[in-house]
Order: sequence, then structure tokens, then C-alpha cells
Amino acid sequence: VIQIGQPEHSKVTTCAYCGVGCSFKAEMRGEELVRMVPYKDGKANRGHSCVKGRFAYGYSTHKDRILNPMIREKVSDPWREVTWEEAYKHVASEFRRIQYQYGRNSIGGITSSRCTNEETYLVQKLVRAGFGNNNVDTCARVCHSPTGYGLNKTFGTSAGTQDFDSVEHTDVVIVIGANPTDGHPVFASRLKKRLRQGAKLIVIDPRRIDLVRSPHIKAAHHLPLRPGTNVAVVTSLSHVIVTEGLFNEKFIRERCDWDEFQDWAAFVSMPEHSPEAIEQLTGVPPQALREAARLFATGGNGAIYYGLGVTEHSQGSTTVMAIANLAMATGNIGRKGVGVNPLRGQNNVQGSCDMGSFPHELPGYRHVSDDTTRDIFDKLWGVKLQNEPGLRIPNMLDAAVDGTFKGIYIQGEDILQSDPDTKHVAAGLAAMECVVVQDLFLNETANYAHVFLPGSTFLEKDGTFTNAERRINRVRKVMSPLNGYADWEVTQTLAQAMGLNWNYTHPSQIMDEVALTTPSFAGVSYDLLEKEGSVQWPCNEKAPLGTPIMHIDSFARGKGKFVRTEYVATDERTGPRFPLLLTTGRILSQYNVGAQTRRTDNVMWHEEDRLEIHAHDAELRGIRDGDWVKISSRSGETTLRALITDRVSPGVVYTTFHHPTTQANVITTDFTDWATNCPEYKVTAVQVGASNGP
Ligand code: SF4
Repeated sequence: VIQIGQPEHSKVTTCAYCGVGCSFKAEMRGEELVRMVPYKDGKANRGHSCVKGRFAYGYSTHKDRILNPMIREKVSDPWREVTWEEAYKHVASEFRRIQYQYGRNSIGGITSSRCTNEETYLVQKLVRAGFGNNNVDTCARVCHSPTGYGLNKTFGTSAGTQDFDSVEHTDVVIVIGANPTDGHPVFASRLKKRLRQGAKLIVIDPRRIDLVRSPHIKAAHHLPLRPGTNVAVVTSLSHVIVTEGLFNEKFIRERCDWDEFQDWAAFVSMPEHSPEAIEQLTGVPPQALREAARLFATGGNGAIYYGLGVTEHSQGSTTVMAIANLAMATGNIGRKGVGVNPLRGQNNVQGSCDMGSFPHELPGYRHVSDDTTRDIFDKLWGVKLQNEPGLRIPNMLDAAVDGTFKGIYIQGEDILQSDPDTKHVAAGLAAMECVVVQDLFLNETANYAHVFLPGSTFLEKDGTFTNAERRINRVRKVMSPLNGYADWEVTQTLAQAMGLNWNYTHPSQIMDEVALTTPSFAGVSYDLLEKEGSVQWPCNEKAPLGTPIMHIDSFARGKGKFVRTEYVATDERTGPRFPLLLTTGRILSQYNVGAQTRRTDNVMWHEEDRLEIHAHDAELRGIRDGDWVKISSRSGETTLRALITDRVSPGVVYTTFHHPTTQANVITTDFTDWATNCPEYKVTAVQVGASNGP
């Protein structure tokens, strides 16, 4: 007798929210998901979970899901439901027409960090082999692209150096520009456990995040820097370490280029990098900075964890390199308990980058100009790949406004809500002749779409996600796709409609192709994942069961590279009109723009985004707790309720961005990271004033 609510069968799969990549048993009754049970053998979570992975799956069967393809001639027309066949035929013929009329490079694609590795691989393959150009980009453009640039330059590969287990061997932890309690909760629990055991904590963040406030974990140091001054603070930490002779000479001589180190050491030793010299700029008390530097250099195993508070700046890539410099100077690379660890936001942002979603890189981070790499793909795919990088997302939009870019295939991304300068994104999309959006819901970008292809959830497909520790986890299909097809099948049929001879019958075959073409994935197969549960890349002949810790004997690039990290102030300045600095973050129960979590029971924990403001700034403006306030910047304005708090310092305000009405990207600037175009979401000069509400 089956009782109501009792599961009949289950499969182990992977959470589709953050980059921790927790494993769950999806317990099913027929085609209905009864509950998600944290999986005790999951190597990333060991039986733990947070409220998102555990409870926020109701969106998968939400009534807002679109289940049939739709077409319209003009975006002002109503949608018309069509068959899948008609949709594929229409998209293929429109894309080919556009290319015939405007040239091969007039179309492109965007992959999704929400989708599986296999799906991402297929989208970039469609663009490169089917569209015949390299105009493919990913949402990592707006989050961790500086990680890719910075870690590649210094260490030789675009990934975190450690596994999560490593934190159990750490003695001193720097958390910079991240709020793990809300953003990466299961990793945060492991970190807190280590801190309760006595490891020391240094938090570098404009805001007093939970780790600073927790009565059970006393942050040894909180350096409350002004938003936008990461480079100055991290370089100053190195200044103290070098000028006080606390660097690890043995490690540097053995593992890095000594001449480059000396050049860098002379640079960071300059008086303008001293804690005293940067105090006025950063707002960080010099003594606290000096003590933090000494602690990190002498306190034992030192590990650095960082998030979007590092990358989403005009100097995001520079900060990543400054962090890498600091780790190398103190010898904190290549063993348990140390390392440089980007806390990835989305479930598969690591994987989408690994799979070749950037316009300049083929799978495995190999540049498109590399003849040997292109040759592998040319032969296998029977094409001649272009050797010039394609367009990044912002460049595609610029080209659209200029009239040279006319069509785009967007899988699982809402660029109108997620990308900076909403007006410019809208103008770019409006200028295109064929915008194809593939998603679960009619998102904001779909307002500008001519074709909508229904997407599938992680519960409806097989595949893999790669988490922040490079762990490749299996995603297992537990129910049939409500729309009839998994996303990889849709991309494949679209490719076939465009004349490509693709015949994958299961995602495992796509992973086999990845293994065949990508040295760091050479040993990965579904059979191995079945046997081991999960593996961390590189996984190949040298490391058949994967690589928990990287750069043990030598860096991926050979010698570690020290890079001069000159602080350059952002062009976003405060002044009489906009005297406050706005920065942004997340809350535990919600996820990004809330497209999924707002369609689940998790809404009960978070009703609205609020503007955190210090009592001093609130009083100056006559604002009381809970009042509606207008936040205006040089780009636009929005309205939120105020929350008066000492979590932010005077001069700094903060909000989450989980509700579309918050419109955070309407007020953020269009400044971007100099190396990668990652938007500077974390620094916006604003004014705050009383308001009657939206
Ligand atoms: Fe999912 Fe991240 Fe929560 Fe784990 S910590 S359950 S991966 S959202």
C-alpha cells in the first residue's frame, strides 16, 4: 500500500542553484517529486543542504512554465503557438537568411550556467560549427570572467585550486567580497566549523557580513573597505608582507619566477602601497590591515575565498591577480588547507567556462588562435573554425545597435535582467531581426524575442554540472520533460535543421566527445562518474581519479607568475549629487533575479529587497526604518523600503536584487572590468531620498 506522500523510487542528482553543487536524492512518486533529501555520500555536501536545494524545486512544475514553442513576426505581435518542427524550421531559415544578407558573423549564441555541461558544449558547437563564427558567450561574462583571466594569467588555469575538504586543514582564512552564509551556505557551514575549531578569520568586505557578526565566530579582523578599493587593500597586504620580510622565499624560488617576484616586490614595497598611505582612499584602519597581513603570512596554512565582490569591478581581473600574488608570496598554494578559491555563484558557471563558452576559447580554455587545438575540432566536426575571437555579449549588443549583428540564440539566460545597462540591452535586442530565447518561463528578455523555445529543468534531463571545486557531478533525469524535450535535444534538432549531422542519443556521448577533445577531461566518462560518484578535473592519464588540489608540484603554466597590480580608481565617483556608494548581494532563501525561487515556497522567507542604510545617513535624509526611499544614480532610479542597520558603514548602502521590481541594473553603471568586460555591479554612486513608494 502506497501512502500519500511516500516515495516509490529515487535517483541521486545535483542541486541546480549555487556553485557548491550539493548532491540530493530526488524521491519520486511516479512523475511527481515528493522531496529532495540531501545525499550523505555527496562529496561536496556530505548530507548537508540549504533551504534552496532542499525546498525550492516547486518552480519545476509551476503554472508559468511555457510548454509549447511560440513564434511572432514582430515583438509587438501576440505569440502564436507552433509545433516544434515549425519552430526549428523557422529559426534555421531566419538564421541562414540573416547570414546570407548580413554576413557570417551577424549571428551568435549565449550559453547558460544553469544548463548542463553537455548542453553548453552543444551550444558553443552550434555557434562555431553551425554559425561558422566564434560569437558565443556565457553569463560568466557578468560574474566570474575576471577569475578566468586572473587565475589563468598567474597560475595557468581558470579554476579554484582546492577541494572543499581542504578548509578542514586551514589555519587562517581570508574571505573577500563574498558572503558564504547567504551565497554558499553548505560551504559556509564547513568553514564555520573550522573557525569554531580555532582557525582565524580575516573578512575584507564593505559590509559586516554574517561571519563578522556571528557571536560564535569572532573574525580576527574585519577590514571594511570602501567599495571599489579591493586592489589597493590586497596590494597593501602584500606591501606589509614584503617590507617586513614575511614572504616565503623558499616557495617563491622553487615555484615562481624569482626575477618577476623581485620586480613585483619592488612594486608593492613602494610607500604609496603602505596601509597608512591608502587609509584615506580605502577607509581601512592601517593597524588592522598590518595585523591582518602578519596573521596571514605567519599563521600557518592560509586560504583565500572570494566571490563577486572581487570580480564585479572595473578592476576585477586585477584583484584576482593581486589575490594570486598574495597566495604565492606566502607559499599558500599546492597543498591542503591553502589556495585561492573563487566561490562560484551559479551551479554550472565553472562548467560553462570549461566547455568553451567564451568567444576566445575552445573547450578546456584553449585559445581559438591555437592551430593545434583548432585542428582537433576541425577534423572531428568536419569544419574549418575561425581563428579570431568572436564577440562578447556587450560587443554583440553594441554591434546590434550599430546594425551589423542581427540574430541570437539565448539558452537559459535573462540578459535583460542580468546584464548591466538595461536600456542598452533592450536597444540591442530590439535592433535584431531574430531573437530566439530558450527558457522555462517567459523571462524579461523574451519581451524582445521572435521565437520562444520551452526549456527543461534539471529534474528532466541527464547530464553533469561542475561545481566551484571543479567537481563534475551527475545530473539525473527523474521525470519526463514537461515540454517533451531536454535542452540538449532541442539544440541538437536545431543544429540538424541548420544542416549539421548530429546524432547524439544520450548526453553521455556528448561527454565522450568532450573527453576526446579536451585534455583536462580526457578521463571523464559517465561510467567513471557512476563508479566514483564524482571527479574533479583535471581527470586524465596523469590523474585517472581526478585532482582535488591543483598546482602541487608546479603550476599549470610552469612557474607561477607575479603580476604588478596597479590600483586605478573606478570612473564611478561620488560627489554632491550622488554622495553614497551602493553595493549589492544575496540572501539565503532566494537566488539571483528570483525567476526560480520566487516560484517556490521559499518566498515565505523573503518578501522584498530592501535598501540597507546606516542610521547616520538615514537621519541626514529624514528616513525612518521601513520608509519608501528613492535611489537614484547617473543611470536611473528605483524605489525600495529602507532598512536602517549598522551592517553598512556611513557612506555605503546595500541591497539584494531578487525581485524584478528592484531593478538594480537600472541604476548600476556601464563601467566594466578592463580585461573581460565583467560589469562593475558592486560600485554605484547614488543619492537616497524619501519617496511615496513605487
Ligand atoms: Fe544548492 Fe548551494 Fe544550497 Fe547546496 S548550498 S543546496 S548547492 S543552493
